[in-house]
Amino acid sequence: MKPPRHLALVAPPPPRETWRDQARAAVTSLEALERHLVLTDAERAGVARSLASGFPMSITPYYLSLCDRHDPRCPVRIQCVPHASEGVEVPGDLRDPLGEEAHQVAPELVQRYPDRVLLLATDRCSVYCRFCTRSRMVGQDGGARSEQRLQPAIDWIRAHPEVRDVIVSGGDPLVMSTRRIERVLAMVRSVPTVETIRLATRAPVVLPMRVTRALCATLRKFAPLWVMTHFNHPKELTPQAVTALERMADHGLPVMNQTVLLRGVNDHADTLEALFRGLVRARARPYYLLQADPVRGTGHLRTSIATGVAIMERLQGRLTGIALPRYIVDTPEGRGKVPVGPDYVVAREPGVTALRTFRGEVVRYVDPPADLS
Ligand code: SF4
Repeated sequence: MKPPRHLALVAPPPPRETWRDQARAAVTSLEALERHLVLTDAERAGVARSLASGFPMSITPYYLSLCDRHDPRCPVRIQCVPHASEGVEVPGDLRDPLGEEAHQVAPELVQRYPDRVLLLATDRCSVYCRFCTRSRMVGQDGGARSEQRLQPAIDWIRAHPEVRDVIVSGGDPLVMSTRRIERVLAMVRSVPTVETIRLATRAPVVLPMRVTRALCATLRKFAPLWVMTHFNHPKELTPQAVTALERMADHGLPVMNQTVLLRGVNDHADTLEALFRGLVRARARPYYLLQADPVRGTGHLRTSIATGVAIMERLQGRLTGIALPRYIVDTPEGRGKVPVGPDYVVAREPGVTALRTFRGEVVRYVDPPADLS
């Protein structure tokens, strides 16, 4: 039966709850963004620059709803709204900071370590993060890669049995349909020497409704499969995001979180403590705190390494070990990750190491005799 005409007229628009509706309704223009946020001149210039420069803007209605309408210092807004400073290059900036193009071993396949590879399954994301390491290529080359386009990469992995771990990334692989994700994962799993698959995605943060039961059941078929995600601020741990994390855990999918250290977003120990505690409560492991890669145009978002070390010093002893990530610098040009942190070794002499505890006490650890049988 049709509703009375006056009710039909006042009925609210259908809720944008499915991930496809959210992705379709993503804000990609200045006009649309200005309907939601009161922009500063620097943000307006940043959006105009982004639309012209090739590193696009896209913000899901869900993620946009987490942005403060009036405050340009909002930690969510900083991550997704372009800023004029993206046009400023500072010393150390690189177009491809991890040297992925130089380490490409097959189309869409990057190898920086002997036992693992990175498979770039798409160049699309639902939100383009302003700190993205792959800003040089995301959103620019046609979306999800076909099986035909990925086949040479799979052939390369098959010919290199030393590769045990494949990171399926992009772009964000979870903007692809579940059926397509299943086909890509099946291609990877068809290589018997691949032991683990990691799926790198920001969907739990920016599009949590994407983490449906059907998706989790599909991912579970390819276990051991680890989900690597990127929560950067406690504001992102909404009830929907927590449901997404818990759903993955309930399906036996381990979730590891890589937080990027960002100026004005999370460069404070109290902020990170709240984030890491919240992640552990949602059964996601804070895995890395990443020093932001020196991507061209992100100088305004990066901190010094000394800032990161000072934060880690404050968190050590304050957080349980399962909530404390390692602080990592991914060295420029793809030379590999280096763990960095406060130095707790005060002195070394034969058989004795002097260590500084988180309380500042110096304690001597005596090694056992080497010839004890
Ligand atoms: S989701 Fe990942 S690949 Fe996409 S823009 Fe954000 S950081 Fe870059």
